[in-house]
Amino acid sequence: MTFFKEIFSKNIRLKIPFLENEGYEIFMKREDLIHPIISGNKFRKLKYNIKEIKNKNLKLVTFGGAFSNHLLAVAYISKIEKIKAIGIVRGEELHNFKLNPTLKKCIDYGMKLKFVSRDEYRLRHEKKYLEKLISKHNNAFIIPEGGTNELGIKGCEEILNSKDIDYFETICVPVGSGGTISGIINSSSSKQKILGFSSLKKSNITVQINKFVNKNNYKIIDENYFGGYAKFNSQLVDFINEFYYNYEIKLDPIYNSKMIFRILNDLRSNKWNYGKKILLINTGGLQSIDGFNKRLKEKKCATIDFTF
Ligand SMILES: *Cc1c(COP(=O)(O)O)cnc(C)c1O
Repeated sequence: MTFFKEIFSKNIRLKIPFLENEGYEIFMKREDLIHPIISGNKFRKLKYNIKEIKNKNLKLVTFGGAFSNHLLAVAYISKIEKIKAIGIVRGEELHNFKLNPTLKKCIDYGMKLKFVSRDEYRLRHEKKYLEKLISKHNNAFIIPEGGTNELGIKGCEEILNSKDIDYFETICVPVGSGGTISGIINSSSSKQKILGFSSLKKSNITVQINKFVNKNNYKIIDENYFGGYAKFNSQLVDFINEFYYNYEIKLDPIYNSKMIFRILNDLRSNKWNYGKKILLINTGGLQSIDGFNKRLKEKKCATIDFTF
């Protein structure tokens, strides 16, 4: 079963002229290449959850927003592993609209979608609500939004290898629900600094992360360049297109492009004080581009475009 095998992504060196001259070594871990459909870090977070569900032969219930990389990853794996999956989607109004590319694919892979109001969606961490869901769906296994639970973090502890832990001073990773960075913190050395770049404006995510981690060698930097989660401007779109032109690496518009934009900006303006040996974790997430471009087109903005 290939899904459960051990995977180490390769690191590639990013040759950025103005930084090379100053002795910086910037590497990118290509978690984005783990799988063409499943986002790199979602693969990590689902590995042990899916193992558990298969062992216990349960149905799966999970949560996500309309463009969720997590929902799509769950839908795809559930199809391959023949698991019955239900996705609870934020926004009952979506039910009446033409489905976006992410949700359409989820349905194609056999996931059942249930659209709920924002008020109901807010209950997704509440014990009583979850108990009701579990009994309604025959003792289903609940994977929280984003795949962030103990088993998800166990999978993310496999992102770094021993060389990464010995070599790099700083490891940078995008942050949503906090699971990926928690696994990285746990497997890192206490001499390393782990920098988390939140996709949210005011994330308050340390509360969540501190539930899972065994040390505090980390710092969270909130998204305050582009206006918050999934917000964008033409500068971001240009950056994604230019980055592809320069390095032939596609960056997603919600997590990785914003992180790397921020880091390069800080380095360029001498605001960086986290050492010279830097590892960027590219978590993938490219499936979100289709939906994003649809929004850009509606607003008559330039789109993300990897042809040149
Ligand atoms: C979900 C996701 C993240 C955030 O991971 P968390 O574990 O939720 O913090 C980062 N990058 C991509 C591409 C994602 O899909």
